[in-house]
Amino acid sequence: MPNAGGRMTVPLLDLKPQYRALKAELDAAMLQVAATQMFILGPEVRALEAEIAAYCGAKHGIGLSSGTDALLIALMAYGIGPGDEVVTSSYTFFATGGTIARVGARPVFLDIDPVDFNLDARLLAEFLGGCERRAEGLFNRATGGRIRALMPVHLYGQSADMDAIMVVAREYGLPVIEDAAQAIGTEWKGRRVAGIGEIGCLSFFPTKNLGAFGDAGMCVTNDDVLASKLRILRVHGGEPKYYHHVIGGNFRIDEIQAAVLRVKFRHLEDWHAARQRNAAHYDRAFAAARTAARVATPTARPGCRHIYNQYVIRVPDRDRLRTYLGEQGVGTEIYYPVPLHMQQCFAYLGYRPGDCPEAARAAGETLALPIYPELEERQLQYVVDTIAGFYGKQ
Ligand SMILES: *Cc1c(COP(=O)(O)O)cnc(C)c1O
Repeated sequence: MPNAGGRMTVPLLDLKPQYRALKAELDAAMLQVAATQMFILGPEVRALEAEIAAYCGAKHGIGLSSGTDALLIALMAYGIGPGDEVVTSSYTFFATGGTIARVGARPVFLDIDPVDFNLDARLLAEFLGGCERRAEGLFNRATGGRIRALMPVHLYGQSADMDAIMVVAREYGLPVIEDAAQAIGTEWKGRRVAGIGEIGCLSFFPTKNLGAFGDAGMCVTNDDVLASKLRILRVHGGEPKYYHHVIGGNFRIDEIQAAVLRVKFRHLEDWHAARQRNAAHYDRAFAAARTAARVATPTARPGCRHIYNQYVIRVPDRDRLRTYLGEQGVGTEIYYPVPLHMQQCFAYLGYRPGDCPEAARAAGETLALPIYPELEERQLQYVVDTIAGFYGKQ
């Protein structure tokens, strides 16, 4: 009998248990910043930058105001702008495509691999192969634009195929800006993502595996010159202060956020492990409930360490299932209901409904289930039982 234990509440995410567990430490860290009254680019920021960079296998960390600003400033550091194009995945959070357009460049949205929801590396190689190589660079034959960078996304906490992506990047001389906003600690064949390409962009938005008490983000890089450009762009492009060779912005992370993140960072590996345990529990429970014909559970690529920022299933009749789960007390979300190539604001790019068919299919089938570390087994079981019950009744 599904739901034999009665109705339960399982929120998609509840940050309160994490705060309760670390309250003393977190409160002390915030009060310490208050006591010093040093709010901007102080010792907490510098320490966090060093810790996160080392964790990602990168030499430099540049603390920023958000993950979105990390993507934006990475594009700015390469001087990408009008006439340029950046290749990315159509199935991602809006910021990935939005930042490319905001610097004046043209996003090129490619389809995803249906297995891991990440940029299909075969399509990427095909697209780049169809471009025209000239002395000045690589040009899109259809638009005349110059391809300037690749921006793969590690969606849900699972790595894109970084071997294949780095091979074509090297072949065509293009930098790789990793959107690792959902993927701090994700590994591709033993290497942490964000530290694999030229610049890795992290987000500390509260729903990410390492979340601040508000907005925050970071760029990591192994390149000394890029690191210094990013640091200068973060403070309006002033170097020295009040002398501007470039136009930057205010992209700084707050000292108080850095202090909070440093406390939380010490627990990040434990939280990853708890999310992985929850994912394994879901996998086993769905297998036991024999829902395989209806519910496709996430598949981790061999050699990839998935950190499960989201546990996303694919199901038929997704919207009705979502409503039903809501009625039964289970919080879910759709990441994302509209692929970027179909967003109204990108209509000027000229994509058509048949383009990126896998991204379009995913948008109609994906559903993120509660996966946060503090969930109890009985809650996970309730989610699976409720889903099995929904399809059993049909
Ligand atoms: C969260 C997220 C971002 C943006 O990060 P913010 O910190 O919210 O600005 C960018 N890309 C992806 C894939 C994300 O999930």
